[in-house]
Amino acid sequence: MTDIKVYRYGHRPMRDKRVTTHVALTARAFGASGIIVDTGDEQLERSISKVVNDFGGDFSIETGVSLFKFLKNSKNMNLIHLTMYGIPIDQSMEKIDEIMSSGKNLVIFVGAEKVPGNVYAESSLNVSVTSQPISEISALAILLDRIMHGKEFSLKFPGKLRVVPMEKGKKVEFIPDRSRCLEILREKRLPPESFERAVEIESMSMKIATGIDCDINLVTACSMLLPLVENDYENIKSLNEVSKTVADSVIRIVNALSHEDRGNVPLSTEEKIVVYSALRSPGNQEEAWDHGSEFFMEFDFMDQEVYGQKPDGIGSGNGDD
Ligand code: SAM
Repeated sequence: MTDIKVYRYGHRPMRDKRVTTHVALTARAFGASGIIVDTGDEQLERSISKVVNDFGGDFSIETGVSLFKFLKNSKNMNLIHLTMYGIPIDQSMEKIDEIMSSGKNLVIFVGAEKVPGNVYAESSLNVSVTSQPISEISALAILLDRIMHGKEFSLKFPGKLRVVPMEKGKKVEFIPDRSRCLEILREKRLPPESFERAVEIESMSMKIATGIDCDINLVTACSMLLPLVENDYENIKSLNEVSKTVADSVIRIVNALSHEDRGNVPLSTEEKIVVYSALRSPGNQEEAWDHGSEFFMEFDFMDQEVYGQKPDGIGSGNGDD
């Protein structure tokens, strides 16, 4: 996929603080991987990094990159300059799609003050969103929406904080991180074996989850909190108070662990990773492995991640071993 970054030119920290912050937030939410700002601004860096830390994603921010340095470094990239003097976006779609399938990274250039002429000359495309003066935030949002063909609305941001959409009211859910999970286990006075099991499951889950497309925070929370529910099913109530997403996943994991025919239990990738780790962790009580079931065939790749090869005595279930 083409990497998209935004370059913000002419940022004046006092005057443009709010608008540049919103340019960055819009870029992040609509699928760009980072913003580069010409003027150094540590406060801006801190506030964007805080949003990324809370709400997730890999969005980067770099400030203090002069226009000269930026243009020098972007020679191998496509540059789309947002300007009211450019070609209307409806007439630019063919070129935009060409740029997106060129295999080169893309930088979208937005100004805050008068943009020098060489930017118009060096851009792959000067594009306008109406030929009227408008806000760079709205111009960027519309360009990114056209570039992404609406796919930005299904992007996932696996952060600690998750907005729960609702018709009325406001709800933000908190997915507890590793240290908060340990605190919860402590508050619930779990025995030392449960702590050990939590740490074992989490460590194995992380080996699998790192590097594959999944919600790593959810994997951590489910791994660490599974022993809480295994210890006493009633503890699910306290999990619900922390996060309904985690509670629902842990219930499905517990069900899958106790279900003979696991292949028929619909699980997300994150839940499968935790089920696998819970079954493979040394503290696991289960003796009977159903090696032949479809459920375990899916776990072949996890064996590779964890053990580097299939562990002794574990068949793939497809008769190859
Ligand atoms: N005050 C500045 C000046 O005098 O040049 C312009 C401010 S303008 C709001 C800031 C940026 O918004 C422009 O550099 C451009 O990137 C973007 N912009 C404004 N109107 C636009 C339009 N109709 N289409 C695309 N981008 C636009």
